[in-house]
Amino acid sequence: MSVIAANLQAVESDIAAAAQQAGRPASEVALLAVSKTVPVARIREAYEAGQRAFGENYVQEGVEKIGALDDLRGGIVWHFIGPLQSNKTRVVAEQFDWVHAIDRLKIAERLSAQRPAGLAPLQVCIQVNISGEDTKSGVAPDEVPALAQAIAALPNLQLRGLMAIPAQANDPVAQRRPFADLRRLLDQLRQSGLNVDTLSMGMSADMDAAIAEGATLVRIGTAIFGARG
Ligand SMILES: *Cc1c(COP(=O)(O)O)cnc(C)c1O
Repeated sequence: MSVIAANLQAVESDIAAAAQQAGRPASEVALLAVSKTVPVARIREAYEAGQRAFGENYVQEGVEKIGALDDLRGGIVWHFIGPLQSNKTRVVAEQFDWVHAIDRLKIAERLSAQRPAGLAPLQVCIQVNISGEDTKSGVAPDEVPALAQAIAALPNLQLRGLMAIPAQANDPVAQRRPFADLRRLLDQLRQSGLNVDTLSMGMSADMDAAIAEGATLVRIGTAIFGARG
């Protein structure tokens, strides 16, 4: 078995263990393989090991890889998980299946307008600055409900839920707090009538805490592909 196949198997089994610990079915937690800076040959290896969802952070790099892996286009679900500037929305709307880091209405409006007719709606999440950090991107929690309602009204997007990258914390209790806050925010959107189901939260270092608090999509790079150079 290749190293990547073995890593994928180990991550899947960690997901299953964390889900079981939380009393949740492992099938509720999807694995997004974060392949930024990873060469296409290794993405192909992960695909051959059964992985189907991949996340990219940079527009140019992502689009080049999608092109290079065009023979797998029907099999791979491509997620754009990086910050997105308004002058780069078009290729993202054309090439990706998901966008995780929407932090203002203008970006969402452009993506909706630029989504080609004939493609499924672009699946999107709002990025929330859940730890209240000055330097982090994402919208403040109290701005989420209004932004969510506005995005849900756009014709070519489907609002799926919320995404966050909390401030780093080492102990598991501190790790769980912001994830719990994000889960409550999603519950609030549901109670207001929005049909949202996705909590994109948890990376290699804090995946267990995220799953304990309800993550439905964990974004894992290092634990699958090794440390980035
Ligand atoms: C790089 C990245 C990840 C993956 O991080 P790892 O620590 O390598 O698992 C997840 N989410 C986002 C938004 C990232 O930029």
